[in-house]
Amino acid sequence: MTLIVQKYGGSSVADTEKIGNVARRVAESARGSRLVVVVSAMGKTTDGLVNLAHQIAPSPDPREMDMLLATGEQVTIALLAMALHGLGHKARSFTGPQVGMRTDRAHTKARIKAITAERVRRALEAGEIAVVAGFQGLSDEDEITTLGRGGSDLTAVALAAALAADVCEIYTDVDGVYTADPNIVPDARKLGRVSYDEMLEMASLGAKVLQSRSVEFAKKYGVPVHVRSTFKSDPGTLVTMEDPHMESVLVTGVTHDRGQAKVSILRVPDRPGIAAQVFGGVAERGIVVDMIVQNISRDGYTDISFTLPRTDRDRAVAVLSEVARRIGAEGVAHDDRIAKVSIVGVGMRSHSGVAARMFQTLSREGINIQMISTSEIAVSCVIEDKYTELAVRALHDAFELGAERAATSR
Ligand code: ASP
Ligand code: MG
Repeated sequence: MTLIVQKYGGSSVADTEKIGNVARRVAESARGSRLVVVVSAMGKTTDGLVNLAHQIAPSPDPREMDMLLATGEQVTIALLAMALHGLGHKARSFTGPQVGMRTDRAHTKARIKAITAERVRRALEAGEIAVVAGFQGLSDEDEITTLGRGGSDLTAVALAAALAADVCEIYTDVDGVYTADPNIVPDARKLGRVSYDEMLEMASLGAKVLQSRSVEFAKKYGVPVHVRSTFKSDPGTLVTMEDPHMESVLVTGVTHDRGQAKVSILRVPDRPGIAAQVFGGVAERGIVVDMIVQNISRDGYTDISFTLPRTDRDRAVAVLSEVARRIGAEGVAHDDRIAKVSIVGVGMRSHSGVAARMFQTLSREGINIQMISTSEIAVSCVIEDKYTELAVRALHDAFELGAERAATSR
């Protein structure tokens, strides 16, 4: 009999009626398979808990924060188990600690060290559906930890790996991974398959379907991940190992990210050690920078620009103003009206001219490129925010990703 790990996100279990629907869906899957079901907290519960904490304390103690956040998922597992009982199924709920989800002690962003899954195995042997709380674990000090926002995806993938499940199904409010955001590109197409690497690029470039760490984990342990809709029964997108056919497609998808800001340090003296000071200051505050551009030097001075999450912009500007004074730079400027558009595809490894076609396409639309960065399987450009839709549509067209091509590609 096949073993399936299913995960239902917050929007799929937002109220009792939705939990009832999930129970029916689970019951249906349980007919032919052994089942482990991982759930998130109901709806926006976790956001609500974070809010409560900040009403009490400006920077809450991380241990207590985890104690608080872990309650969200515990509500859902109990309710879902009850709903399954109501449908005549044997089901048992478990917290992260109960299934032996061992993590390090990095509260609010713990990493998984090992999973015993002993209780899950026993439940399955007893013919029960195991319902497991996502997002939470236990440190070696027996402290409750959480895995970082969106961490239920990781719980599901990690359990699937530990149990050698046939597939990990991630149920969500979108029905798969698309060639572009369907809200922007009407003929965007649902992809049948994407490789782990493509999914990783897409996740980090702004397509918010799967938590990045869960994709890294799935890649490492070869867990096939099926992203699909809670509300529809048709198949979604399989995130899986790369196959030769995938490389025949030049570009797999176009993504965009509007959550970034650009920060520039102006007229920085061009000498060794300056970049180290600039980015050292930013890194010390735990701010993750993305694209970095240093201009060619003129008369001994240069500008350094980079992008970062907009939510970190104020903190970054504060640190950098300090650094700028120290190193004798002219000052710090920032711009929120930017967006990052990217093309992604493993086909880039074996085809040339992909970046050139991207730049030509943007130029034909009169869109100025402010920054460029590349990886082996992606090219990203920072452009002015107001051109995002235009850029995404033009690139989707230029790389022939539309629905009418569905028959010849993935
Ligand atoms: N409830 C947690 C969050 O909202 C974990 C998850 O849903 O994946 O981040
Ligand atoms: Mg999620």
